[in-house]
Amino acid sequence: MNTICIKCPMGCPLIVEERDGRITVSGNTCKRGEVYGTEEYSQPKRAITSLVRTESGEVASVKTSCDIPKSRIKDVVDFIGGLTACDEARIGDVVAHDVLGLGADIVITGRRR
Ligand code: SF4
Repeated sequence: MNTICIKCPMGCPLIVEERDGRITVSGNTCKRGEVYGTEEYSQPKRAITSLVRTESGEVASVKTSCDIPKSRIKDVVDFIGGLTACDEARIGDVVAHDVLGLGADIVITGRRR
C-alpha cells in the first residue's frame, strides 16, 4: 500500500507492506511515520469535526478528542447529529463523553451566534 504520512507538513511518501504477517513501513523519515503507516494499514483512524445546535438554536463547532476508526465515522456523525449543546457551553467543554464506547469525547471548538 502506498500512502502519505499526514503527521507533519513534510508529507513523507510511505510504502506499507505485509509479509508473513509482519507489517513493514518504508519511506518514513521518523518513527511517527512508521506508527502512522502501520495503523493506516491495519486500522485507519480519523478525527471528526462537525456542528451541533445549542438549546437556543445557535451553532457550535465540535470535534472528537481523539481519532476514531474510519469504519465508525458514520456512526459517530449520526450520534453527533442528535446532540444539543447547552447555551452556556464554551470552547473546550465536552458535549458527550466516550462516544459509542470508542474513547473519544465530543468537544466544542467554536461558537457562532
Ligand atoms: S514520517 Fe515523520 S517526518 Fe515524515 S511526514 Fe511523517 S511525521 Fe513527518
